[in-house]
Amino acid sequence: MAYDRNNIFAKILRGEIPCYKVYEDDNVLAFMDVMPQSDGHTLIIPKYEAENIFQLPVGELQTLIAATQHIAIAARKAFNADGITLMQFNGESSGQTVFHIHFHVVPRYDGKPMAMHARGMADKTVLEKHAELLKQALNA
Ligand code: 5GP
Repeated sequence: MAYDRNNIFAKILRGEIPCYKVYEDDNVLAFMDVMPQSDGHTLIIPKYEAENIFQLPVGELQTLIAATQHIAIAARKAFNADGITLMQFNGESSGQTVFHIHFHVVPRYDGKPMAMHARGMADKTVLEKHAELLKQALNA
């Protein structure tokens, strides 16, 4: 399938819809997932237009995973997480719902199962607070 420039993350990248941004450089953007599967759930996307791992050049993937590690380290600290789950889906059959490649960084807490995928919008003030905590950890 050809990359659809009207997907929601493409719109976020173009600034057409807002996001709770935590990190941006020339190659990637990271922001809070609005339907978090746990406190601090963050998404990292490349600026390169690719729907999935099959369309992303390896150099771009290396940059994306390095940025994902950077966010994961900060998220563990910011949210006092016991662990971090990374997720990345390719294709509808795999569970992908937004067709611009991204990694999920999901902080995990002992004894607390992950919430369902892409269900239940979080409160705006909670997302703002989590974005702020993560930005502080990234800048520490
Ligand atoms: P996928 O299913 O494609 O791996 O993940 C897409 C993720 O994007 C889901 O976890 C979902 O909660 C999140 N999401 C969907 N729409 C929006 C949105 O408008 N803004 C943000 N920040 N996240 C979104």
